[in-house]
Amino acid sequence: MDEFEIIRRYFARDGDDDTVRLGIGDDGAVLAPAHDRDLVCVVDTIVEGVHYPVGLSARDIGFRAVAVNLSDLAAMAARPRWMTLALTLSANDPDWLDGFARGLFEAASHWSMPLVGGDTTRGEQTVVTVELLGDVERGAFLTRSGAKSGDDLYVTGTPGDAAGGLASIVAGNTEQDAADGDHRYLRQRFTRPTPRVPFGLAIAGIATAAIDVSDGLVADAGKLAHASNTGARIDLQRLPLSAELRRVAGDAKAARYALTGGDDYELCFSADPADGAELHSLADALGVLLTRIGKLDDTGQILVCREGQPVEFSDTGYRHF
Ligand code: ADP
Ligand code: MG
Repeated sequence: MDEFEIIRRYFARDGDDDTVRLGIGDDGAVLAPAHDRDLVCVVDTIVEGVHYPVGLSARDIGFRAVAVNLSDLAAMAARPRWMTLALTLSANDPDWLDGFARGLFEAASHWSMPLVGGDTTRGEQTVVTVELLGDVERGAFLTRSGAKSGDDLYVTGTPGDAAGGLASIVAGNTEQDAADGDHRYLRQRFTRPTPRVPFGLAIAGIATAAIDVSDGLVADAGKLAHASNTGARIDLQRLPLSAELRRVAGDAKAARYALTGGDDYELCFSADPADGAELHSLADALGVLLTRIGKLDDTGQILVCREGQPVEFSDTGYRHF
């Protein structure tokens, strides 16, 4: 099976809409963006052994490759429109390709987001690069840089679950853990993150700044605060820890995962306190757990506090538990 056969068999699918003037098969794709909207372009590469453990199923790899990019679009309040795929493969295993393509199109299926092109190469390691193009009403995109001192800081979902899930996967696939509902739930939060695209679209015009949580809540909230020239305080007691994570990891480790673990693909954003009620009703309508976890301030620092007292961090992680 050569690369052309791979493309034809697994990636060239019907489903192009009338925004695709030319899809897979030529030297480039030709797209027709809406004239009154801004284009938003995001790209993310995931590397076997770096971004996911060797042995993760092909279907999960395909799903995650799209989901992590959808999460970036969510943080920009952009609507997903088109997708490209650059794939480096160490072998052309039909079962792997079939699973991968399934996962990829599964993650894309909630959106009208055709795969319009890509590249297929051979290499020593599996490397998957997905690029998404989205669009947004002109000027209505969210950025990291609009937060003001005094804004509330929010997070969606239950951060830390993905780090707990990765730890569970890496610790080994004992049958006991795999059969355990808590471990299964946590592992799924790693392998199948839920990009918050509908919620990201809903908070455009309300949120003052937004970022998706890929590197860890403190790190990413810190990027938002830094880009906005503010400081931030996160209240440890407000962290929305899942019952599953607390049972598996215990409270102290659960909090550490939530603060410093990555891969959650939740949204962290800021908003004027006057908009709290509206944000919560939007979240309720979309079935998204929304938690106010702190506030932006003018300290220029990011602090995590417990009972009002700062908890110390270091580069190597988290202390004082
Ligand atoms: P070129 O040599 O001009 O770069 P290729 O032979 O690499 O073109 O690719 C042929 C067509 O298949 C192009 O339209 C390209 O966008 C598409 N394509 C290649 N790899 C993939 C892939 N993994 N997924 C989707 N489309 C792909
Ligand atoms: Mg060419």
